Amino acid sequence: MRIVVVSIGSELLIGHTINTNLAFIGEQLAGAGYTVDREVCIPDQTEVLASTIAEELGRAQVVITIGGLGPTRDDMTREIAARILGAPLREQPTARRHIEDYLGARLNRLPQEALRVQSLVPQGATALLNDNGTAPGLWCPTGNGALVLLPGPPRELRPIFVEQVLPRLRELLPPDSCRRGLRVCGMPESVVAEHLETNLELEPEIELAYCARAGEVDIRLTAEPTMAQRLDQLLEQIKRLFGQAVVPDSGDLAASVADLLTARGWRLALAESCTGGLLGARLTERPGASDFFTGGVVCYSNQVKRELLGVPEETLQHDGAVSEATVRGMALGIMKRLATETAIAITGIAGPDGGSLDKPVGLVYIATGVNQDIQVRRRVFNGNRESIRQRAATAALNDLRIHLSNCESTENKTT
Ligand code: AMP
Ligand code: MG
Repeated sequence: MRIVVVSIGSELLIGHTINTNLAFIGEQLAGAGYTVDREVCIPDQTEVLASTIAEELGRAQVVITIGGLGPTRDDMTREIAARILGAPLREQPTARRHIEDYLGARLNRLPQEALRVQSLVPQGATALLNDNGTAPGLWCPTGNGALVLLPGPPRELRPIFVEQVLPRLRELLPPDSCRRGLRVCGMPESVVAEHLETNLELEPEIELAYCARAGEVDIRLTAEPTMAQRLDQLLEQIKRLFGQAVVPDSGDLAASVADLLTARGWRLALAESCTGGLLGARLTERPGASDFFTGGVVCYSNQVKRELLGVPEETLQHDGAVSEATVRGMALGIMKRLATETAIAITGIAGPDGGSLDKPVGLVYIATGVNQDIQVRRRVFNGNRESIRQRAATAALNDLRIHLSNCESTENKTT
């Protein structure tokens, strides 16, 4: 084994803290061409910590620990690591000065003993100075690899990992893998897999993996670094195979919609019923949303659909709030009301109650409007309330993405 990550912290095991550091490190290492062979999560207990570090050092070249470097009683990683390495801890003036500089005027708030403990470095190790907190990380060379100790708070760990751990790791180990991937939207995982595997010849040494999310499927190819060109070829083939279903660039639907709208100088308005603002939240997650997003209405009740969006009472009575005619009226209404070129409207039954034989739970109508052209799609999503709402928001973004891309190709054809 080459790389093992040990996450330390009882709070991780009782679910009080989500192990986001593992996700971060995993993503960074994968991007740099390294495979994490194993991850272990353990409580703040001296014996468990000691036996885990010793055991993992016995079988992996690089062991990365997360957490337990602070100044309190339950922070024991530094001391245990030093004991296992047989390297005495010494106070390091550079590390101490860095902590003092970091604290500046707040220095008197840190007890002397806490300052001393966090300046301790095992003999032969390098302190990975921390610009966002007091405890430095530690890079401890071992016979053929390293034991790397990192502080737990994500805003401290992340820059240390990127700026100080990755470059050292690159010197120590050659990359073992390369990866390519893309995201497909609007097709179930099984359909994606069948389509891909009947149309693509894959060498056995290429690993193919899928990861399904609500309404989206990630396709990932992994192989040895020498196969990088072949993976590029395959990626192009997969893009051709799935055509418009491929979410471009990073695979972020909201970003893709944002780019398409911004490029045309068009603005977007939303009329959300069963998603209750989820779509607005997704579109405003990234900065710069004001360049294309005008706003929206959460039109949960018929009253709002009628009075703010102008959906006729007759439509609501005759077709119902969850219907093609209503969603069309919502899209037209919000575009007119907010004077935008484009709109998305969503109405559906998220459940668990409110379904019927002809309108089951999971039934969602989505309308996308681009200028005067309104396109409506009817879908029935599986899953619970949360899943139906998430899938509806994802599908709506994808519908608008495709609607906008199609306008582009007709525009290109006519010019
Ligand atoms: P520690 O260095 O163990 O004292 O952790 C300090 C802070 O970092 C605490 O708020 C922890 O919950 C947080 N933390 C520790 N490990 C992780 C992890 N693997 N992922 C996310 N946060 C963590
Ligand atoms: Mg801890």
